Amino acid sequence: MPRRVVILGSTGSIGVQALDVVDRSDGELRVVGLSAGGSWERLLEQAERLGVRRVALADAGAAARAREAFDGEVLSGPDGLVSLIAESDCDLVLNAIVGSAGLMGTVAALGEGIDLALANKESLVVGGDLVTQLAQATGASIIPVDSEHSALHQLLAAERPGALQRMILTASGGPFRGRDASRLREVTVEQALAHPTWSMGGKITIDSATLMNKGLEVIEAHHLFGVPYSEIDVVVHPQSIVHSLIQLCDGATLAHLGYPDMRVPISYALHHPDRVDVPVAPLDLVSLGSLTFEAPDEGTFACLRLAREAGLAGGTAPCTLNAANEVAVHAFLNGRLTFLQIAEVIERTLERLEPASVHSFDSLADADARARRVAAELAGSLRV
Ligand code: NAD
Ligand code: MG
Repeated sequence: MPRRVVILGSTGSIGVQALDVVDRSDGELRVVGLSAGGSWERLLEQAERLGVRRVALADAGAAARAREAFDGEVLSGPDGLVSLIAESDCDLVLNAIVGSAGLMGTVAALGEGIDLALANKESLVVGGDLVTQLAQATGASIIPVDSEHSALHQLLAAERPGALQRMILTASGGPFRGRDASRLREVTVEQALAHPTWSMGGKITIDSATLMNKGLEVIEAHHLFGVPYSEIDVVVHPQSIVHSLIQLCDGATLAHLGYPDMRVPISYALHHPDRVDVPVAPLDLVSLGSLTFEAPDEGTFACLRLAREAGLAGGTAPCTLNAANEVAVHAFLNGRLTFLQIAEVIERTLERLEPASVHSFDSLADADARARRVAAELAGSLRV
């Protein structure tokens, strides 16, 4: 029997690579639902090619146009996304939506007791406590797609609880590694989008340049693996060959290595617990020659520090951090903020909004909306 999979955010960088993994699965994976934000033409092309009869678009206008062009079912808006997940009789949901817009898909899948392959790290950043409680309550598993967390998931699989002492997340350092603030003032959008080792969607590429991506990943790891922040380290490793490490109580440190190719963690998550062939070159250590490691510069790249502080503060603080980051990154990409102002907008938004405790997903939606308003106001007042 094929595994029935719904792919959320199928038109993005992770989504397209996931379809490549599906194409190579010899029919073991069958796509039964696809979703995107607004890119309806691309979504319909994918649906026609895979014989998928049901799609969802977040944007109502795009959904209306898609309905005219598609003889299957086109769902729209937040309710459409929930119906796509709940009514497709699927075994697994891959959430590859970008931003906190992905939280709803995570909640819908886990709430239905459906296993979740999670690329959308923002779900765990924004709603980590509630999301993990929901998974526990329904018995659904969360299998990470983020490469570092996929590595940690694989490393931890063989260990007994209690053996772990520390986790070490690796970071490439992004295109501006080694620069001080004076050399970050003038960087352009184009330079920030030129990631040295990974090819990804725009938002995560900017997050990698500011190191916010690693900050979000520290929060993600805390929730996924139930590890305190004091036991999660970050080390910069520019070659992106070591994807993460665990240190154990007996002095052993285990690392996960491979060339940077997201099809590896995507395949791991979609086929779990099986492993299948992925067409990546075998690791050639001799031609790599050396792997290097250095401490992250949290003074210059303030986003990593801000994320750690928000994670430790808990409550709505990570939700506020994430929303402010989404607003600031969007403004940077549109030429309305400078690179260094991204961290400034986030820090000031966090200063303005006291963290509150989180009682429900509704309280998170309110905190997200409030943080977006404050961040947009601050971004407007800073302007380049
Ligand atoms: P992307 O921008 O390339 O694609 C995002 C997808 O989400 C698209 O299909 C888009 O149509 C859809 N989308 C956007 N807004 C939406 C909305 N409001 N509602 C519903 N759908 C919406 O992003 P990406 O790089 O593929 O990243 C997706 C997620 O995976 C992010 O959370 C990112 O942090 C995570 N991730 C990505 C990579 C990578 O290599 N790209 C690696 C690790 C983790
Ligand atoms: Mg990652």
